Amino acid sequence: MQRRAKTVLWIGVLLAVAAAAAWWQRAPITVALMTRQVNAMTAAADPLAALPDGLHVGLCGAGSPFPDDQRSGPCTAVVAGRRLFIFDAGSGAGRNIARMRLNAGQIEALFLTHYHSDHIDGLGELMLQRWIQRTSKEPLPVHGPAGLEKVLEGFNDAYTLDKGYRTAHHGAAVAPSEGFGGTPRTFELPAATGRKVLLAEPDLEIVAFAVDHGPVHPAVGYRIRYKDRSLVISGDTRKSAAVARESQGVDLLLHEALSPQLLAILGQGFSQAGRPSLAKVMHDVVNYHTTPEEAAEIARAAGVKALVFNHIVPPLPLSGLDPAFLQRAATIYTGPLRIGVDGDWITLAAGSTSVGMGKRP
Ligand SMILES: [Zn+2]
Ligand SMILES: [Zn+2]
Repeated sequence: MQRRAKTVLWIGVLLAVAAAAAWWQRAPITVALMTRQVNAMTAAADPLAALPDGLHVGLCGAGSPFPDDQRSGPCTAVVAGRRLFIFDAGSGAGRNIARMRLNAGQIEALFLTHYHSDHIDGLGELMLQRWIQRTSKEPLPVHGPAGLEKVLEGFNDAYTLDKGYRTAHHGAAVAPSEGFGGTPRTFELPAATGRKVLLAEPDLEIVAFAVDHGPVHPAVGYRIRYKDRSLVISGDTRKSAAVARESQGVDLLLHEALSPQLLAILGQGFSQAGRPSLAKVMHDVVNYHTTPEEAAEIARAAGVKALVFNHIVPPLPLSGLDPAFLQRAATIYTGPLRIGVDGDWITLAAGSTSVGMGKRP
């Protein structure tokens, strides 16, 4: 046998032996890897301390009621300086907040845009996570338009048994009974202006404004300013002049987006499968959402520095679908544009004009 062929054979044998040894020892190896991952996730008691001063956005849910491997129910984490706020609590919100290495115990308040199920179906889990991780003696303050009391009453009721189990099992020092659940902070929007300042401090302002998601009334979006950086969350809405008004000059517009062309494929599929009620829903939802092109028109008119689509409808199971989803959006709005997925992280550092888009640092 040639010398070279012999060497190759020996390397092959050695690799096979190493692979067999790794397989044999896979339990201790994977446990060591898991330990490293857990240590990395839990290393910082205050994960916000390492972030640069500014506004940060984490997508803890970039999807809609549809199942989408990359996109959970609507949820946006906003870090303003060292303060953590959550906007909407769709399915998977609490889990994605943990995946982004944020501490649910640090959530100062939750803001809801409206009470469609996809925006609240992670609420119970999120309130529980925050309660235990904070060992909170005060329920989570939840801000939202009219109807909030009913929603919170329902969640607080549904979780009452679980509250009892947790306190009995872990003790009142970890699960203090009085801190369970959420407290409604309901706001009214004055008809004349359609907007209300909910929080006004020199460095931090949060404003709610009415959007158009009829027959869902009320439905709101939010504008958040921290120092010299600002962003708007559209909430669910058809193309809205209020979103355009509130977005004037902001650094980041997070806008919902629905593709009628791609959704029609689902509608036709349900229709052909003899599922007319679902086919009708696919048809109906088009008229109270915004297309990517319409959102791009708003972003261009408002002069925003960056546009991120969230609340993506329908699911996009293939990355090659992006151009079909966007249609002409990237031509209409020529600034930085992104189709959001869970875990996306956008940084607006204070005292700069930079927009950092990527994953959680
Ligand atoms: Zn929705
Ligand atoms: Zn909705």
